[in-house]
Amino acid sequence: MTTLLKPDICVIGGGSGGLSVAAAAAAFGVPVVLIEKGRMGGDCLNYGCVPSKALLAAGKHAHQFSRGRPFGVADVEPEIDFAQAMKHVERVIGAIAPNDSVERFTALGVRVLKEEARFQDPRTVVAGDHVIRARRFVIATGSAPAVPPIPGLDTVPFLTNETIFARRRLPRHLVVIGGGPVGIELAQAHRRLGSRVTVIEAAAALGKEDPELAAVVLERLRAEGVDIHEQAKVERVERHGRTGIRIHLERAEEPLTVEGSHLLVATGRKPDLKPLALEKARIAHDARGIKVNRALRTTNRRVYAIGDVTGGLQFTHVANHHAGLVTRALLFRLPARENRLVIPRVTYTDPELAHIGLTESEARAHERGVKVLRWPYAENDRAQTEHRTEGFIKLVAGRGGRLLGVTIVGAEAGEMMNFWSLTLSKGLRIKDIAGYVAPYPTMSEIGKRAALAYYGEATRRSSVRRLIRFLRLFG
Ligand SMILES: Cc1cc2nc3c(=O)[nH]c(=O)nc-3n(C[C@H](O)[C@H](O)[C@H](O)COP(=O)(O)OP(=O)(O)OC[C@H]3O[C@@H](n4cnc5c(N)ncnc54)[C@H](O)[C@@H]3O)c2cc1C
Repeated sequence: MTTLLKPDICVIGGGSGGLSVAAAAAAFGVPVVLIEKGRMGGDCLNYGCVPSKALLAAGKHAHQFSRGRPFGVADVEPEIDFAQAMKHVERVIGAIAPNDSVERFTALGVRVLKEEARFQDPRTVVAGDHVIRARRFVIATGSAPAVPPIPGLDTVPFLTNETIFARRRLPRHLVVIGGGPVGIELAQAHRRLGSRVTVIEAAAALGKEDPELAAVVLERLRAEGVDIHEQAKVERVERHGRTGIRIHLERAEEPLTVEGSHLLVATGRKPDLKPLALEKARIAHDARGIKVNRALRTTNRRVYAIGDVTGGLQFTHVANHHAGLVTRALLFRLPARENRLVIPRVTYTDPELAHIGLTESEARAHERGVKVLRWPYAENDRAQTEHRTEGFIKLVAGRGGRLLGVTIVGAEAGEMMNFWSLTLSKGLRIKDIAGYVAPYPTMSEIGKRAALAYYGEATRRSSVRRLIRFLRLFG
């Protein structure tokens, strides 16, 4: 027997984006139904951000054992229990899971259905034996691993982000296809926990990042023993021996064969739209995702789409940001507009690589007179005390010192991005960064020092020289 539900809002997908919309709607007393077919918390909690950062943390801890010498602490070879490291990953997920649980959302007033949802017509969704007719729908169904059509891949066992965190035994030699942030983070984590690791990338590894800063991360991975083959296309994959895999690579130089014990495919992610039956709801979409306007509305005016399913930037904070915009529109009819230039991104390797706004090359393509300011960690007192002097900050400024973009490679780069995210979203200028008081000694001072370098250059201009003279006389 089917049950008809008529909530104000129906959210499809209980991951980062969907949970935020459901919680906000419930907090304002709006009747909301949330439909989730798998694990509450979605990708981020179960197969993405949380397990990958937890595994990186285990790897970082192991790595510290061989970093004591500069502090007068003898290096030791750590004894690594991989199964326990994976238990730590499981425990971290378990510690966060109650926040995203059916019980918590039910207590908040959300009606949770653990079913797969599909559209029946432009204003009706079916989930198991429930029929939902809501005033508005929000699709937040995320994405799934995009597995490329590599010859032979269907004949060998391979891992993706959905299966790798369930392993309990250390891969002897992990071969990673894909040198994006996911592949590179998991490569470093496994290397530091004792695996031999090879990364294969068809173009440049961390290719979406400023190459000058990405090079620092890649150099570090190589120094730690990760083999990274760039501009290497996988021609085919086959079984090797009883359990291993052999990968044939095409390269501009001579072809190459890589043999490993396990294969991780980390070649990107794309939405799986088929189960939603979007055509029945007249919702336009293509292979990249659901088409939305800048207010995140689909071609069906009753339906919004947020997060990974829209085929844009695939980050939890983007899904949350979308959720905030859609909530404003749904609950308060406030205008919502996405601004992608204020979305930060971080690769959580050691050193971390963080970026917001335009890269140098994007800025130069965009306007003239772009200024680039750098400051190295090696010139930072706190970084010296901690022996974490690798990396630098790069500020990209436009006319009048308008801040266009910031990239940092080095210790705590991700944490520093909070400051730069606010800076860019508020349209601050180099003079604002040069003028605030930073606590000493902190690594974040590298940002202020880079900003001050702007005036170092400007002192060559006579107007600025006159101003400095004036300030010396009367300031
Ligand atoms: C290894 C890895 C590491 C990552 N690290 C980071 C990071 O450090 N920082 C960061 O910001 N981002 C990171 N991401 C990306 C981040 O996980 C995603 O961008 C984020 O989870 C997207 O949120 P979402 O709400 O769009 O989708 P999801 O969180 O994936 O949620 C979608 C939910 O919808 C459900 N669903 C799908 N179809 C249906 C249906 N028809 N009916 C009912 N339910 C359905 C799914 O089961 C899923 O639970 C990482 C991703 C990976 C893979």
